[in-house]
Amino acid sequence: MSSQLQYDIIIVGAGIVGLTAALAFSRLGQLNIAVLDQREIKLAPAKQNASRVSAITAASKNIFSHLQVWPQLKCLSAFKQIQIWDAAFQTCQFQARDHDAQVLGFIAENDEIYAALLATVKTKSNIYLHPSVRLETYHQDTNGVLLNNHFFGKLICAADGADSWVRSQNQMTLQQEDYAQSAIIANVATDITHAQTAQQYFLKQGPLAFLPLQHPLHRSIVWSAPTGEIEKLMQLSDADFCAALLTETQSAGSFKKIKLLSPRQMHTLKMRHADQYVMDHVVLLGDAAHTLHPLAGLGLNMGLLDVAYLYDCVFANIKKHRRYEKRYNLRSFERIARVKNAEKIQMIASIKKIFASQTKPLPFWRHLGLSMLNEQTLLKRLCIGFATGEDLPSLAQTSQGLAC
Ligand SMILES: Cc1cc2nc3c(=O)[nH]c(=O)nc-3n(C[C@H](O)[C@H](O)[C@H](O)COP(=O)(O)OP(=O)(O)OC[C@H]3O[C@@H](n4cnc5c(N)ncnc54)[C@H](O)[C@@H]3O)c2cc1C
Repeated sequence: MSSQLQYDIIIVGAGIVGLTAALAFSRLGQLNIAVLDQREIKLAPAKQNASRVSAITAASKNIFSHLQVWPQLKCLSAFKQIQIWDAAFQTCQFQARDHDAQVLGFIAENDEIYAALLATVKTKSNIYLHPSVRLETYHQDTNGVLLNNHFFGKLICAADGADSWVRSQNQMTLQQEDYAQSAIIANVATDITHAQTAQQYFLKQGPLAFLPLQHPLHRSIVWSAPTGEIEKLMQLSDADFCAALLTETQSAGSFKKIKLLSPRQMHTLKMRHADQYVMDHVVLLGDAAHTLHPLAGLGLNMGLLDVAYLYDCVFANIKKHRRYEKRYNLRSFERIARVKNAEKIQMIASIKKIFASQTKPLPFWRHLGLSMLNEQTLLKRLCIGFATGEDLPSLAQTSQGLAC
């Protein structure tokens, strides 16, 4: 490859965050945007009942709506209530109607979000997709970055996931904490309808979530525990795994029958938070900038908010004829996105500590945990508060106040 392809913005990583960023920048009209991925950029083959799902906040819904992606999502399941049990099976709940909202959030299939994003990207004449690119070289000068001696971009957006190649090329440091936990995700059928309720059990070993899917009896589970325990659960037969689910939840009296609908997938869990999100000509987005425990289903939502904050920053710079690719002009994005993400990572750490505490007297701490939730501090703020906050970026708001 000798000739150079010149772009205003190159997005490395065509995951959900990368494709969302491409669509956001394409709204600005005058920018040429490239999206590079090491994999093929195509729709995943249809898998019945095996798809990974994400809990989606109202803010993320607004982002997808502004980008014309939301109407294409057909397999959404709204949840109106969240019910939480601690290890002593004390319970608390919060409901959409208590917050003058119709729903608390949505469960969406990642494959469907990806397909809708990709279909929309393909309608944009200023987005260029480059699949199956193995990135090997990175050269930066005062004008921008040259990748593989072929792709030149004034600004590189790293949306290349938790082990970001772009981040490591720039030696951008991270705060890291091994949660010493892994998670199993799978889809299950239960004997009682979910009634649009998301359930979270804070078990002794870690949290177990049941997220409502479109079918009234189907749920997606996310079960986190020490990695050794999760490995044992992965070894069980389907029948024994379902029996384990029933045992863990029986004190809550929720289910009498559970059946697996999909293979189980295991994910190791680690907190990572980049010390800086921006350098001259480089921005980190999504999992490239942060990963956290999935107990509140926030990772993707945080990545989408990163995109929306960056969009506002680039928009403001272009309006004022400033170089959006320079670090000093990207600082406003970094300040707000990093502070907001650090707050959420901290909240997750606090929730995890409260419910995982083995300190005596256990019931007191667990009860305190639930009281805190009932009075609504931590989890409710995470689940509801930040989705409706006043300082949301324009793409995350409803139509009024949208930049561009
Ligand atoms: C068990 C579990 C449950 C979760 N549930 C939720 C939830 O309910 N709600 C929520 O908001 N979040 C949830 N998350 C977090 C969420 O899944 C992630 O935050 C999100 O998928 C990250 O998206 P991304 O686009 O940043 O990264 P990725 O999805 O990792 O995409 C990165 C892309 O970059 C590409 N890439 C990587 N390296 C290179 C390279 N060198 N060159 C070119 N391309 C490259 C990859 O091929 C990929 O396409 C969960 C996470 C886990 C583990």
